[in-house]
Amino acid sequence: MNKISKILILLASLLLFASSAKAYQDYGVEKVGFHSYLTYTRIVLEISGEVGYIVRDLTSPPRLLINLYPAKLTSLERKIDVKDRFIRGLRLSQDSKHVTRVVLDLTNFESTYNIFSLKGPHRLVIEVKSPKKDPIADLLKPQGFPYYLRESVSEEYRRVYKVILDPGHGGEDPGAIGPTGLKEKDVALAVTLEVANLLKEEAGIDIYLTRTDDSFIHLDLRTELANQWGGDLFVSIHANAAFNQKASGIETFFNSRYPYGEGAAAVAARENTSLGADDVSGEIKAILWDLVQNRYRDESNELSHFVQRQLCQAIDVEDRGVKSAGFYVLRGAAMPAILVEIGFISNPWEEQKLRKGEFRKKIARGIFRGIKDYLESYDERSSR
Ligand SMILES: [Zn+2]
Repeated sequence: MNKISKILILLASLLLFASSAKAYQDYGVEKVGFHSYLTYTRIVLEISGEVGYIVRDLTSPPRLLINLYPAKLTSLERKIDVKDRFIRGLRLSQDSKHVTRVVLDLTNFESTYNIFSLKGPHRLVIEVKSPKKDPIADLLKPQGFPYYLRESVSEEYRRVYKVILDPGHGGEDPGAIGPTGLKEKDVALAVTLEVANLLKEEAGIDIYLTRTDDSFIHLDLRTELANQWGGDLFVSIHANAAFNQKASGIETFFNSRYPYGEGAAAVAARENTSLGADDVSGEIKAILWDLVQNRYRDESNELSHFVQRQLCQAIDVEDRGVKSAGFYVLRGAAMPAILVEIGFISNPWEEQKLRKGEFRKKIARGIFRGIKDYLESYDERSSR
């Protein structure tokens, strides 16, 4: 064999090797998304190519093991905490050379699951739900926007803040009603969903919503959910109303035992008469609840100022300032908690503005910026 044919054979075998190596190309999980609805949680794994999978469910502790092949670990976080009704978290590991293992830690061994793959881009979708009739789901009738959203970030570890958004009122509780019939519950929900849309684009922030449609949620349940989710801050969104139809502008509240600021007591009195607040049983419970929120009083005050400032920059309205009073919806929150009154629905001119999508978007942007400012200042303080 001459030298040239030797080189040709070498080249040919190199090519063969390269093409056979390609057949074993490993794909990887590039992104993990969690979409929690009240009746189920959907987990979406975005994968760089088509992979096969095998699932096994185990009971103690309850978890799903999913082996993906051919696949290798990417730079994604190895462990993602979720903590919703069905999922505690997700872990990724390299099981063997071409097999990536995904472990879904479940909250309940009775949960059932559905798994299927989609193309363009390649995704593996896992849905976990309860096999039984679900009383909470019946109560809240969820649909549409998930109440918890998380997309994993592949950048290096960064603290994740849990932001709880609480659209005021809902269902049989309309809140305040404007002169032409606009309902506070509808404005509050629309603006909250806009804030959620802005926040979900941010890395390092998970969003939870106490309601995502026109359902009635007990005032107690709102902070109870927020505490259960381990929230870092709680923002309740409302529209104002006053006997004087000329009253206008924006004000932000935090909880205090005694009212502070002009008209603060009246606003708290109105918000506290919301349905579901009637059984706040006794003074002792009230004092205990106040104590919970009092630990976060300074932070709540600070968060109020950040949000109020950004809101008044986002829209040209009267700045009524930061005030405080005793709000049932805030006082059980074991985290900084505020209530924003985004305008007076009782004022005919402001009611018309509150109807407009553009105006709602501007308000949402103001609240979003205020939350971001607060988290950034918190980050700075804690890194010192
Ligand atoms: Zn309200």
